[in-house]
Amino acid sequence: MTEAFDLDALRGKIAGLMGQAKKDLTELVALKSVADPRQFPAEGCERTARWVADAFTAAGLTEVGLHETPDGSKAVIGHRPGPPGTPTVLLYCHYDVQPPLDDAAWKTPVWTLTEKDGRWYGRGAADCKGNIVTHLTALRAIGPDFPIGIKVVSEGSEEQGTGGLERFVVANPELLSADVILVADCGNFAVGVPTFTQTLRGNVNVVVTLETMRGPMHSGMFGGPAPDALAAMIQLLASLRDKDGNTTIDGLTDDQKWTGVQYPVEDFRADAGVLDGVDLLGSGTVSDMVWARPALTVLGMDVPAVVGSSAAIQPTSRARLNLRIPPGTEPEQALDLLEKHLRAHVPWNARLDIEVEALGEPFVASEHGPARSALEQAMATSYGRAVTTEGQGGSIPLCNVFADTYPQAEIMLIGVEEPKCLIHAPNESVDPSEIEHMALAEALFLSSYR
Ligand SMILES: [Zn+2]
Repeated sequence: MTEAFDLDALRGKIAGLMGQAKKDLTELVALKSVADPRQFPAEGCERTARWVADAFTAAGLTEVGLHETPDGSKAVIGHRPGPPGTPTVLLYCHYDVQPPLDDAAWKTPVWTLTEKDGRWYGRGAADCKGNIVTHLTALRAIGPDFPIGIKVVSEGSEEQGTGGLERFVVANPELLSADVILVADCGNFAVGVPTFTQTLRGNVNVVVTLETMRGPMHSGMFGGPAPDALAAMIQLLASLRDKDGNTTIDGLTDDQKWTGVQYPVEDFRADAGVLDGVDLLGSGTVSDMVWARPALTVLGMDVPAVVGSSAAIQPTSRARLNLRIPPGTEPEQALDLLEKHLRAHVPWNARLDIEVEALGEPFVASEHGPARSALEQAMATSYGRAVTTEGQGGSIPLCNVFADTYPQAEIMLIGVEEPKCLIHAPNESVDPSEIEHMALAEALFLSSYR
């Protein structure tokens, strides 16, 4: 059998499995697996976990079970050992979904997979049930006698951020140990453009409080010399950006370059809903700014609301800050620089208090190992074009846990969640061609990697 014949056969097999994939996704989307019992009965997650366990069992995994994690959610974990001496690949996905948010904003029923203009709509169709179905399709195409060891983990509370699986992995490292970990909770840069998500930004969250007077004072009688805490905060926060909008924290590098895919300005403007005539921020490219450089956002401020405010000078002010940091910057180091900057720039000797809320590590996926080469080749073959890399502005803490727990493993981030999917928003959808192409890439990888 020539390689070309193998490829055509596999491509045909995957195409033939797409009807089953759609049926699976229809069943999965109908299961309301929002992992928050205050919003949806816990039964939805229970039934989904069992569905996922049954499906992976049918696809050839042998030791499949539901494991309770420290936040009460259940992770579905399965394994089929490979022939002696072969490596093990862990396939990650999650079966819980975001709530519908604004029901009225959905143009199709939230929990009914609905085909429209070639896409499949429904909550979780992409994030992450589309990735569950992609794993299943790949395994069906090449199984059940896999040439290497296969493990699967499907997390039950990813969207809640309660970290159940993160703590479970640390407590049970042997269950999920693998040579390669494919975290399928990302997606291509665009439909048809095979893409690795190469980096995730970390973050530093702090609450800053300024105090200047014992109480609010009349702005007519005292305005002028009275140290206005709100004016002090405005001045302090303004020191965190230059006139072009670059984030400027004394000592923190802010001129990094992104070497992967370039995010076109017009696409970014449309994706971010930027109004005509309003500038984008920063002196780098869009990719530099969103994936390679630090970015500070003021998340909230305690100030008097416009309606109900009076002619008074404010004695205190508070702001909640979120600093996103790229790989290469440690959160402790970024926090230290941010604190020093705030102390150096606070005007008028206002009393400053900084409360640290959270620190998150940035993440870099494996770039140069044998599995990365094999998967890159498989994706290029499946899509018929070269593979590129993008970053992700947010973080996936589980990736850092995997990297710390399995330092030898090659960890890669892929999936079917391209930008048109509108994950987390109303009218989530998936492009079935992405499921088909990614399933083929995964099947090629699992059959070629040794
Ligand atoms: Zn997800």
